[in-house]
Amino acid sequence: CGIVGYIGRNQAAEILLKGLEKLEYRGYDSAGIAFQTSEGLTMFKEKGRIVDLRAVIPEKIDTYVGIGHTRWATHGVPDQKNSHPHSSASGRFTLVHNGVIENYEKLIKEYLKDTQFSSETDTEVVVQLIEHFAEIGMSTEDAFRKALSLLHGSYAIAMLDEENPDTIFVAKNRSPLLVGISEDCNVVASDAMAMLQVTDQFIELHDGEVVYLRKDGIIIETLAGDKIERASYTAELDM
Ligand code: GLU
Repeated sequence: CGIVGYIGRNQAAEILLKGLEKLEYRGYDSAGIAFQTSEGLTMFKEKGRIVDLRAVIPEKIDTYVGIGHTRWATHGVPDQKNSHPHSSASGRFTLVHNGVIENYEKLIKEYLKDTQFSSETDTEVVVQLIEHFAEIGMSTEDAFRKALSLLHGSYAIAMLDEENPDTIFVAKNRSPLLVGISEDCNVVASDAMAMLQVTDQFIELHDGEVVYLRKDGIIIETLAGDKIERASYTAELDM
């Protein structure tokens, strides 16, 4: 399973598909991508291989921001509805997740009793929870950190918000995730191999950190909202 995200000056679709292909070795049963476009958020997901996903994405799709996922099902059978990305009930938030949310049933009972779920995954609870906190007035950053602070388990997460199309919201806890930076774009992925096509400059992430990825920079914070400064390093890897 794996995650990839891109925000920058170049067309995102091919970069994300190539990135997912580089993550295929990790194993998966389904794949999906969500893009921000001038008409809002659009999403494609398929049970099966990356070639099957590639086949349903329009070749001329015009997008500079997106998140992609390969799924290795833990909660809910491998099928299209359980494939990532998953969206919140209103459609505002959309995210991809690798890992396992151990307390998702408890979180439903506590915060999401009236929410209509459209998948059987533990993951959907995360995106519904973020929407729940946004609906009671929190900023996306606050809702994101608040929801994450309630999770028990492992996660690598990348999220899009239709109302903040210039940011990818990223988080990591006990699942691999790494940021790549360059003058043209900022990227995130489970493995540097998926990002070498656009950069060899990386920033490592630690457990319990969130990152806001924008075209012209990144911000790293703790779950408590404290800013973190961290230098990048140059990777000497071959594609
Ligand atoms: N637990 C999530 C699911 O079953 C994510 C699985 C993964 O890491 O791909 O959908």
